[in-house]
Amino acid sequence: MQCPKRLWLQVHKPDLIEVDYEENLPMLNGNEVGEMARRLFPGTLVKYEGGLSAALAKTEQLVADPDIRIIHEATFCHQGMLVRVDILERSADAWILTEVKGATSVKPHYIPDAAVQAWVVQSCGLRLESVRLMYVNNQFVYQGNGEYHGLLVADDISSQTDNWLDDIDQKKAAFITMLNGDEPAIEMGDQCNDPYACEFCCYCQPDNMPEYPVTVLPRLLEPQKGALMADYADVRDIPETALSNPNHLRVWRATRAGREEIICSEMGALKQLPWPRYYLDSLLSGQRNDSMKKV
Ligand code: SF4
Repeated sequence: MQCPKRLWLQVHKPDLIEVDYEENLPMLNGNEVGEMARRLFPGTLVKYEGGLSAALAKTEQLVADPDIRIIHEATFCHQGMLVRVDILERSADAWILTEVKGATSVKPHYIPDAAVQAWVVQSCGLRLESVRLMYVNNQFVYQGNGEYHGLLVADDISSQTDNWLDDIDQKKAAFITMLNGDEPAIEMGDQCNDPYACEFCCYCQPDNMPEYPVTVLPRLLEPQKGALMADYADVRDIPETALSNPNHLRVWRATRAGREEIICSEMGALKQLPWPRYYLDSLLSGQRNDSMKKV
């Protein structure tokens, strides 16, 4: 839903995918959170090593076994739509579907993601009691001894996913028509980083793309971005007077100088710190960023 061309490329030209560790940190964090969820809510894992058919058969077998309470990565396929459900939990006479995210809140783009899963699972004949979104409780304080209960919390998002269910059939048909056609002609734009950094940026960027486009300036607000892009292609062409944000000015200076900018006054304090050193991006940039980095 982020970009039809992205979906088309994922299906038809997956060799073009470029994985950037930094850009994909949220996804990698998500994998870690998924592992933690499996630890906190133990169940039977459907492995994918044997391929799709084996995963589907194993899921069917587990669903039919009343002694199985929780299934991880339960795999379902309906009309060409494949989903692997993070946590599928048996209730009295139905199932609870839980999608696990490496985030600290329910973000709007998680809803269609969970809705698609619910649609496929229900189309495969399972009755869903509820759809939940599990995420990291950022108020959790680790007390030691490997005790992580309370780290993850879940919200019931059934009413929100229900709003999507009626549209999914239609959207699926549109996507399949698109996938059966030629590569969509879509130019790069805001969709390339929203909600996820697209893995096809290198492929899509035009040949005459400047080495340092204006968009390298961090967290540019839309009106300013539009105004700058209308007048300048490369960030190095922007006059200093056109920038006021200290972070923008620092990136502008470093880009023009062609070397990193080190604030020497901070070096002494940093050198006192023992290894390994961790930092919160938000402390450095003054902006909200959930990633913690190890140096
Ligand atoms: S880089 Fe942008 S235009 Fe190209 S596929 Fe990705 S989201 Fe679409």
